[in-house]
Amino acid sequence: MEKETRASFELNQTQESKVSSKGETLSHSKYQICTKCIMDTTDPLIEFDDKGVCSHCHHWDQVQEKQYFTGADGESRFSKIVSKIKSETSGDTYDCILGLSGGVDSTYVAYLTEKHGLNALAVHMDSGWNSELAVKNIENIIKKLNFDLFTHVIDWDEMRDLQLSYFKAGVANCDVPTDHAITAILYKLAEEKGIKYIMSGSNLATECILPFSWGYDAKDSINLKAIQKKFGTLKLKNYPSRSFYKTYIHDAYLSRFTTIRPLNFIDYNKEDAMAIIKKELDWREYGGKHYESVFTRFFQGYYLPNKHGFDKKRAHLASLIQSGQLSRDEALKKMELSDYPEDLMLQDREFIAKKLGLSVTEFETIMDGPKREFSDFPSAYPYLQFLRKLKSLLRPSKS
Ligand SMILES: [Zn+2]
Repeated sequence: MEKETRASFELNQTQESKVSSKGETLSHSKYQICTKCIMDTTDPLIEFDDKGVCSHCHHWDQVQEKQYFTGADGESRFSKIVSKIKSETSGDTYDCILGLSGGVDSTYVAYLTEKHGLNALAVHMDSGWNSELAVKNIENIIKKLNFDLFTHVIDWDEMRDLQLSYFKAGVANCDVPTDHAITAILYKLAEEKGIKYIMSGSNLATECILPFSWGYDAKDSINLKAIQKKFGTLKLKNYPSRSFYKTYIHDAYLSRFTTIRPLNFIDYNKEDAMAIIKKELDWREYGGKHYESVFTRFFQGYYLPNKHGFDKKRAHLASLIQSGQLSRDEALKKMELSDYPEDLMLQDREFIAKKLGLSVTEFETIMDGPKREFSDFPSAYPYLQFLRKLKSLLRPSKS
């Protein structure tokens, strides 16, 4: 659920320097694909060196050194973090908080957290798109790990209206309504309960590459409200949102929140993790990639490639190449295979249209509307750029 990773945020920042203050990006005139990974010019900000190696590969070399630790080194670093957390919390409070979607990443983080003797408050958001199996998985996980669970059931009328606004806006990141809400719920609860540590499932092994132009910061409430104001029919009253000040000033600089990414301290392999949670937590597989969410499957498998001309699968496979889990040849073969058959796509489209209260034709008409960038709407982006500049000016020079 938490797609905005620290890793991608840092990668994005490098790419961001090439984006205009309005958030516009350039596009390439000639097709090119990286000779080391499989990222290509469907990312408008990609650059290549004279050997044809892309900017994502170069950035990964820097990030890996600072943020990705495996083997005994990773284990010892993570143990130190756990000891620090334990030394700061007393036995009668929660050591940390974690978002639990029922997917592999968040489930495995919950498993590791308990294994290291930390008492977590697990938070789940029922966004209205959950499958019955996801609900059952969460029940099993909580029972096995003996964690307290806080469930937030979203106001479906508002969520439906907001989700439709994003489709009408035609922006790339239509996952924002879900991602923004879960982050808002998590931080609000952490603040209320005085929990300092947030365990996150985001990780470099499987998602170190995410081009800046392929999504936009889900935490930006200014952008979210502007899109809802233009296309929505309801005023959001119950939808969980976190303000610009809380997100980018309070949570980033003033509060004592620390986000820990346990999966960056192990040799994280999804297949292995799945085998462990099946055995230890009675977790059941959803039947295929993104089968836990019909919405994500449709959004990533159909909407993005058709409307915005890129396939998130490419960034995912490129990430696996970077972390040594897949060869370039295997990744290229996987890119050619379609894992989203047309009959399933048509079935998903009908399901989503119906859930959003539309006929398939009405839904298609909305999706056929103009493609837009997040920057076509008011956003926090110019303020964030200003904040970053200010920060770099205030930072003492290294020379
Ligand atoms: Zn590359």
